[in-house]
Amino acid sequence: MVEHNGVVLVLSGPSGAGKSSLINKIADDIGEYYFSISTTTRPMREGEEEGVHYHFVSKEEFKKDIAENNFLEYATVHENYYGTSLNPVREALNKGKLVIFDIDVQGNTAINNRLGDITTSVFITPPSLSELKNRLESRATDSKEVIENRLKMAKREIQRTSEYEFLVINDDLDIAANVLRQIAITARLKIPYDRINRFVQKWENI
Ligand code: ADP
Ligand code: 5GP
Repeated sequence: MVEHNGVVLVLSGPSGAGKSSLINKIADDIGEYYFSISTTTRPMREGEEEGVHYHFVSKEEFKKDIAENNFLEYATVHENYYGTSLNPVREALNKGKLVIFDIDVQGNTAINNRLGDITTSVFITPPSLSELKNRLESRATDSKEVIENRLKMAKREIQRTSEYEFLVINDDLDIAANVLRQIAITARLKIPYDRINRFVQKWENI
């Protein structure tokens, strides 16, 4: 990737963990950021808007983007494709923004492989599986079958929590938001390897 001053904050966690609620809570306190809008082949949920929550495309369109190398990363989640388009992320990083991703554990691995030096990763979860079930049921955006599937996925995802730098347990929303706010502010302090190396070389030669 080209030279940039931006940094990355990866948020993962089961669907229903509270990622959107937490971002909304801290949005005004973390400076200029770009929330990466993923592309997906899953159907739009009630209340969602094209270009706001996701770019909703057909499987054919998604496969075309894969072939054209338009994705920074992509994965299959709940039998649908989800992917992060490269260009808007590159643009936001070049502008020095904090780029926030709401992506799954596979996406976190991919982002860490490509942008690990400027990435801070956070796993967000409700305090228990039963609380996750309660929240998904009261959010009332998914069918019973979809919720069962998400809970199954969540049991698998939680096993990979140790791949993240931070774990935020979203029990009380305000407390969890305070923790995430501090992590997001600190994420901005990461310095890419190439800038560190240049600094070290200069430092030795003055
Ligand atoms: P995600 O973006 O991770 O899928 P949401 O932010 O949509 O999760 O949250 C899922 C549901 O749980 C929503 O109905 C939200 O209002 C609720 N919720 C989020 N955080 C809490 C919390 N700390 N306590 C109780 N309910 C919560
Ligand atoms: P949902 O269908 O609830 O919006 O999202 C399902 C899962 O897909 C969540 O775990 C979410 O983090 C993940 N996800 C959303 N966008 C992307 C993406 O662009 N890449 C990857 N790898 N995962 C994504």
